[in-house]
Amino acid sequence: AETDFGVKYADLAEDQPPIHFAPVEKIVDLCRSMSLWPMTFGLACCAIEMMAVGMARFDIARYGAEVFRPSPRQSDLMIVAGTVTKKMAPAVVRLYEQMPSPKWVMALGNCSISGGPFNFKGQYNVVQGVDRIIPVDIYVPGCPPRPEALLEGLFKIQEKITGKRWWPEAMPVGKAMESTSG
Ligand code: SF4
Repeated sequence: AETDFGVKYADLAEDQPPIHFAPVEKIVDLCRSMSLWPMTFGLACCAIEMMAVGMARFDIARYGAEVFRPSPRQSDLMIVAGTVTKKMAPAVVRLYEQMPSPKWVMALGNCSISGGPFNFKGQYNVVQGVDRIIPVDIYVPGCPPRPEALLEGLFKIQEKITGKRWWPEAMPVGKAMESTSG
C-alpha cells in the first residue's frame, strides 16, 4: 500500500525511529498495582478480616487499595472472602464477568480456596474452591486468615502485575497464615 504521495507505508515505517512501549506499559502497570480497587464483596466470616484491613490498625490505604467499590464495573480486584455456596456461585461468576479487564482475584480463606470446613462427606451446597468457577490469582489460606495475610496477598498481586516486590512482609508468612482463632 502507498500514501497519497506515492511513498510506500513499509518504507515510511523503516525511516521512523522504533517506538518503545515497554517503559510506558511498566509505568501503567505500576499505577495499576498501586491503585487496585477491590469490590465490596463479602460472603462469610472472612469478610470481617477484610473489613479490619480497611481500618486504621492495618490501613490498606497505605498500599493504595482502600477504595472498595460498590460496583463490579468500577473494580479490578475481587476478594472472595468467605464461603461460596452453590446458590451464590452464579452471582460470583456474573460479578466477575462484569468487572473490566485487566482484573485480579484473591481467594481469601480456606472456604474460598477449597471449601474449608465444608468439604466433609455428604455436604451438598458449598463450592469446593472458587477457582472451579472463576480464575484465581492468589490464594490466602486461613480460617480466617489474619488481616496481615490479606495484605501479603495484595503485595503478591502487586508483584504479579509489576514483576517486582515493593514492600517488606506484612508479617512473617507463617504467622500471617495462622488463624486468628488459633
Ligand atoms: Fe468462615 Fe473459616 Fe470459611 Fe473464612 S474460611 S468463611 S472464617 S469458615
